[in-house]
Amino acid sequence: MTQVASEQQTTSAPKPKKKRLPPHSVGPLNLLVLQPTPFCNLDCAYCYLPGRTKKDRMPIETAEKSIVRAMESGLVAKKFSIVWHAGEPLVMEKDWYREADKLVQKHCKGVEVTHNFQTNAVLVTDSWCDLFKSMNTRMGVSIDGPQHIHDAYRKTRAGKGTHKSVMKGVECLHKNDIPFHVIAVVTKDFLQDYEAALDFFEDVGMTSVGFNVEEFEGNHEDTSLDHNAGTRHLFREFTRECYKRHSAGRLNIREVREYEKFIQHADKPRLMKTQQTVPFRIITVGHDGDFSSFSPELHAMEMNGEPFVFGNVHDNAYLDAFANPMFARYMNEIIEGYSACKKSCAFFDVCAGGSPGNKQFELGTMAGTETLFCDYRVKETVTILRDEMGLDPIVDDHPALMPQASAAAAEFSKTR
Ligand code: SF4
Repeated sequence: MTQVASEQQTTSAPKPKKKRLPPHSVGPLNLLVLQPTPFCNLDCAYCYLPGRTKKDRMPIETAEKSIVRAMESGLVAKKFSIVWHAGEPLVMEKDWYREADKLVQKHCKGVEVTHNFQTNAVLVTDSWCDLFKSMNTRMGVSIDGPQHIHDAYRKTRAGKGTHKSVMKGVECLHKNDIPFHVIAVVTKDFLQDYEAALDFFEDVGMTSVGFNVEEFEGNHEDTSLDHNAGTRHLFREFTRECYKRHSAGRLNIREVREYEKFIQHADKPRLMKTQQTVPFRIITVGHDGDFSSFSPELHAMEMNGEPFVFGNVHDNAYLDAFANPMFARYMNEIIEGYSACKKSCAFFDVCAGGSPGNKQFELGTMAGTETLFCDYRVKETVTILRDEMGLDPIVDDHPALMPQASAAAAEFSKTR
């Protein structure tokens, strides 16, 4: 944001240079991720949250301070979203959210604020639906497909599957006319039965579905996806089927929709958004008021012996982070990773340098480039979608820097 960028520039000694370094801006704030509690009522096999058994709660004063700090920061443009996230957001009381919404009305005059809930849907009831309707809410539900796929990963603490309870929550959302999108995690089990998963989603009645590849992050130090040729083949077939069903109007699939827009508008929106590499487009605040920026999954993770936290809303303005040497160090590392991606990756225009969180978890540094995550989420997805659309493949110009992707591209061209 221009105003914030110039404020930052006036505090540094040398006069700002005209040529801006990537990432070239600060904000505007797109997502204020507030973690009302780390606790989750489920215990999914691929969950990355280390504190999901802790029942700490965010005092409403901390929620208020987080919102006030955002409004005072100069980072807010005309609108932003609050993402209620961490553990399961519906384990908090409805009255707590009613209070939080009142604070939003009080402090965010003239700004459009949307409340985003990503829920496992197990606790959804009619009275929750009344609350959702009373707030400007966007709902997302996590479902991995039919029961045999979903229940293999999304379990209770007692190890029982949750599909039946989730579908009860989904029915309740439908009964109350609450639209929702679905996020599904693509694991190897999912890929082995992707037709059944896509058939299932055609009957769920959601507005759209997004497929997140199972990631190697946080507490989840493994993934069932791998570089194995069989897994890669299944992923490609799955992506082709996604394109077919999306194009036939049978499903609205986020990845296809976003890439089609990218093709139509040449540069934006991208398949991956730049918000994780630009400071303060995302701000994450934990239940205790500690805050961070960039990838939300990095929040409070131990990195180099210290938590990934840049201040606390009770003591610091968000932009005080610029005086924090740890923030400067991580920001430089992120810029390094962004620049390395820009120099070395033929998919950069689509991806914009990926996610610092995935780079940290997979490579041990945010200054790195290719990850298993971007290999599937960006390179394979885009390669197959381009093929289905009759477009030329993106050719890697830097084989020495991207041996793995080059090998994948070579293997792919043999199959065409
Ligand atoms: S290496 Fe990966 S993260 Fe970097 S630009 Fe390419 S696809 Fe994106």
